[in-house]
Amino acid sequence: MNCLGIESTAHTFGISVVDFNGKILSNEIDMFSVKDGGMIPHEVAEHHRKVCDSVLNRALEKAGTKIEDINLISYSHGPGLSPALIVGKDFAKKLSEENKTDIIGVNHCIAHLTIGTLVTSAKDPVYLYVSGVNTQVIALAGGKFRIFGETLDIGLGNALDKFGREAGLGFPAGPLIEKLAKKGKYIELPYTVKGMDVSFAGLVTKTKQLLDSGNSKEDLCFSMQETCFSMLAEVSERAMAHCEKDELILIGGVGANKRLIQMLEKMCSDRNAKFYSVPLEYAGDQAAMIAWQGILEFKAGKRISEVEIYPYERVDDVKVIWE
Ligand code: AMP
Ligand code: MG
Repeated sequence: MNCLGIESTAHTFGISVVDFNGKILSNEIDMFSVKDGGMIPHEVAEHHRKVCDSVLNRALEKAGTKIEDINLISYSHGPGLSPALIVGKDFAKKLSEENKTDIIGVNHCIAHLTIGTLVTSAKDPVYLYVSGVNTQVIALAGGKFRIFGETLDIGLGNALDKFGREAGLGFPAGPLIEKLAKKGKYIELPYTVKGMDVSFAGLVTKTKQLLDSGNSKEDLCFSMQETCFSMLAEVSERAMAHCEKDELILIGGVGANKRLIQMLEKMCSDRNAKFYSVPLEYAGDQAAMIAWQGILEFKAGKRISEVEIYPYERVDDVKVIWE
């Protein structure tokens, strides 16, 4: 038995084939990117519409299978940009109707969490989920993934990308910020932690002012990383203590950052906890996680009556039926 996953919540269009035991047979992506500016929803949707057939063919070919031999189709039904979600949903629906395959819709953020425990040996960790839109500290408690802390305004990825846009670093800016940060020195920036919540908007405004007044991009990249990552280490540690869990797993696209990994590793080793980071291929948006989440929920008995999108669904809206 196998499942074809379809991801289309934001910049990435992805298709993956995963077997029901969790073996990832293929995981193909095509990412929307621009040299200047950011993500304009209808442009992202247009990109996804253009690439969906070729990504599908690549994913099937790499998995050594044909669409007729797929047993389940899983798509991300939200949260995300509506025009982009619609492309994935319509594509999933078309494939399921043409091939009379079962179809299931899953929450993108939950899928980020469960792929993390599939590809690492983490069992019941605190999840630090840092992507473009999301920055959340999550743990499983009482049958739900609960959000113990989160950003009060924008996600860290978006904060980095906003700064990147001001500094002319292109989109997504995270990887270049990481590179430039290696040559920077520290400038104090607003550090905002409230309990287990964080805030990045003030810091982004401040970095823009400092950029306009002639500070170097390298110094700002370094200082942004040091400040934001320290905030995340602090709230993750607080959540681990609060939930009495001794594992932390880092997921989401910003999880590619080596400096962030280093700081979290240090925090965990200081408190005798285990730290896991997800291999790069599974850290950011991709469809293996969508296929795997579809398998978990399908096996647990979930069936959908309507093929819909849920652009604002949060992780704590979903009942965990598969544990
Ligand atoms: P996701 O939404 O999970 O795919 O994550 C995308 C976000 O990750 C974007 O905002 C990127 O700028 C950010 N990102 C990717 N690579 C890095 C990196 N090496 N350091 C920091 N942020 C990164
Ligand atoms: Mg994501």
